[in-house]
Parts: sequence; structure tokens; C-alpha cells
Amino acid sequence: GAGTELRELLLDRIHDVPDYPKPGVMFKDITPLLADARAFGALTDALVELCERYDADKVVGLEARGFILAAPVAVRAGLGFVPVRKAGKLPGATLAQAYDLEYGTAEIEIHADALRAGDRVLVIDDVLATGGTAEASLRLIRRAGAEVAGVAVLMELGFLDGRQRLADALEGAPLEAL
Ligand code: AMP
Repeated sequence: GAGTELRELLLDRIHDVPDYPKPGVMFKDITPLLADARAFGALTDALVELCERYDADKVVGLEARGFILAAPVAVRAGLGFVPVRKAGKLPGATLAQAYDLEYGTAEIEIHADALRAGDRVLVIDDVLATGGTAEASLRLIRRAGAEVAGVAVLMELGFLDGRQRLADALEGAPLEAL
């Protein structure tokens, strides 16, 4: 995780919204963090540092809040940004990966030509919950021919055991929750 000072700054600007989007869910709202230039900047710096530590050469953001976090990281790190999107949003030829939700399934996609063999990818999202989205994205990245340098999230909801679900798909790559 992040240093104590950064951790306090980030935690203070993530708001818990009970029963959103449905009863029983505690939604982690990052909009106060995004609206604070110092907090958003410090988060971006920490993620850029992870790009360097993991020797990443591409940044993948997961729709939708992962896009917001990952794009400034890619620019500051001097790396390309690649979106992983919900099914049906990307115009070109795609690779698709389905995954299980609590009720039903979901599907995400990446452009088939977005990554090259040997690319080392840092995956960024805001919240790791069950780990289903991140797990599917790692499969997509490998199917696209690239390597997973690591996964970085702002928050990990530990009680949902996402880290455990993700363990196999990480194949030893680091998972960092700031
Ligand atoms: P999961 O696939 O269960 O790990 O869910 C991860 C995705 O759902 C991430 O892209 C998050 O943005 C979103 N998400 C899941 N749970 C929450 C939550 N409690 N608060 C905010 N976002 C969440």
C-alpha cells in the first residue's frame, strides 16, 4: 500500500455511500478525490512510480473509473493507454472475455491489435471487489499476446477475497492496493 500520509489523504477523499447502486452495497465514491488536485496528483504520482518499479510499457484502464485514473498515469509515465471496455463499445476487431457476476455474467473487450507480444502491462482500476473484472482483463491481456507487469487498484475490498480469486491469473505478477 501507499505511505501513511498518502493513504490518509486518499482515504479522506473516498466517500462511503450506503445502499448504492442497490441495497447492501457500500459504494466507494472517488469523485471527491478526483476533484482535489493534490490528492489526484499524489495518486497519479504513486501509480507512475509503480509503472517504473514494474517496468511497464503500456497502461490498461478498466471501464469506467479505471480510465480516469489510468489516463494521466500513462501520460506522465510516457506510456500508451489502452482501454478495456464493456462489450459492444470498441469499434475495431476485439477479443472478448466473459466472467461470472453474483447474478449472471458480464463481458469485457480489448482491441485485438492494441497490445504487442512482449508488451508489459500495468492494469489500473479504482476498486478490486470480487476480482472478476480484473481476472477477466488479465486473461484478455495474455490472449492479446502481452505480459502482465502488475495490477494496481486504489482500494481492495478485503472481505470479498478478490485477491484470492485473482491469484492464479496473476501468475506471480504483483497486485498493489494503494
Ligand atoms: P469486481 O469485478 O467484483 O472486482 O468489481 C470491480 C468493478 O466494480 C470495478 O471496476 C469497480 O469500479 C466496481 N465496484 C465494485 N464494487 C464497488 C464498490 N463497492 N464501490 C465502487 N465500485 C465498485
